[in-house]
Amino acid sequence: MKNLQTMIKEQGQVFPGNVLKVDSFLNHQIDPELIKAIALDFAAYFNRSSITKIVTIEASGIAPALMLASHWGIPMLFAKKSQPSTLKNDHVYHSPVYSYTKQTETRISIDKAYLTSQDRILIIDDFLAQGQAVLGLVDIAKQAGAQVAGVGICIEKSFQAGRNRLEAAGLDVYSICRIAALDQGKISFLEEDKF
Ligand code: 5GP
Repeated sequence: MKNLQTMIKEQGQVFPGNVLKVDSFLNHQIDPELIKAIALDFAAYFNRSSITKIVTIEASGIAPALMLASHWGIPMLFAKKSQPSTLKNDHVYHSPVYSYTKQTETRISIDKAYLTSQDRILIIDDFLAQGQAVLGLVDIAKQAGAQVAGVGICIEKSFQAGRNRLEAAGLDVYSICRIAALDQGKISFLEEDKF
């Protein structure tokens, strides 16, 4: 089975501002075998029984979210970062998300038709840094009256505030790979490999 921590060690690049670039297997080119392993790891942690939908944000959350949704046989729904002209304002739930990596605010939106009070969702994303992206999705779930079963993250930057923020909001956060520091280009991990 492919291993996320090994891939990060071998191919991850550290950029200024504590940004980890993993374009060769997750954020640009995508390694399907690795994504499959990631989905199986999420499936082993979370209890599928009451989850109706996997929810993420375009674009980089889509691959792991879709692989898990396919494994469980449920729909995957992604929040859009720009609103198509075919979607009227009163037909969408939306929430502002501030990106520290890009230093910009984006309005994410989900069509009201696809998220309701009947849903219990699992949120999946590629990275957890300050927690803003996930909190935007949690805000949208709240507007829809949907329950949040938990949050699954591929790469958590544990030295940033995201996990604490999400746990303070009462969320069950599971991250496959937890990074302790990105000091001077060197990547160190919080836990040893569990594969
Ligand atoms: P947060 O909202 O938790 O601050 O940041 C999460 C989002 O920002 C993720 O969806 C991801 O797209 C992006 N992000 C945050 N930190 C990094 C990083 O170090 N590398 C990459 N590639 N994306 C990141």
